[in-house]
Amino acid sequence: MSPSPNDHEHRATPESDAPPDERRLHETALVRLSRVGLRYTTGRRRLITILSRAATPLTVEEFIAIDPRLPMSSAYRDIHHLCDVGVLVRLSLLHDRSHFQFAPDLLGRRVLHFVCNDCARVIAVRSPPSVDDVVAAAERSVSTTSFTVENSRLALAGRCAACLG
Ligand SMILES: [Zn+2]
Repeated sequence: MSPSPNDHEHRATPESDAPPDERRLHETALVRLSRVGLRYTTGRRRLITILSRAATPLTVEEFIAIDPRLPMSSAYRDIHHLCDVGVLVRLSLLHDRSHFQFAPDLLGRRVLHFVCNDCARVIAVRSPPSVDDVVAAAERSVSTTSFTVENSRLALAGRCAACLG
């Protein structure tokens, strides 16, 4: 990974002690933003830190609940930029609130989402190999109709333990 003139990776960051996976996410975000001339600002860095430590995809409101220093307006704009450069993806998971997750190439695994119909909570689990087999078979069958799957998301709707009471 060669730094471009716009990179700011020589600046000391609070993430320098972060685990390798988190560091890699920060490095990738920095590189992809700098390719289009965008800086890796403190706000964008915080979004990546929050999401990398969260076990689930998050809504904008959840990002802000975790770190109230993030102003709502810039959080929306920063998330939008991070989606544009392919660091995050917007998930529409059987619910009217959008959740954001790392792009599949950054996540490195297929994820199964359980979505609560009442509170929109999302529980993300690594999909079992049998699910991967089903998806691979579906992708093979669709490829015969001149269609290429670029990403897929798997969501199952229901009620979380808190809402079931
Ligand atoms: Zn719920």
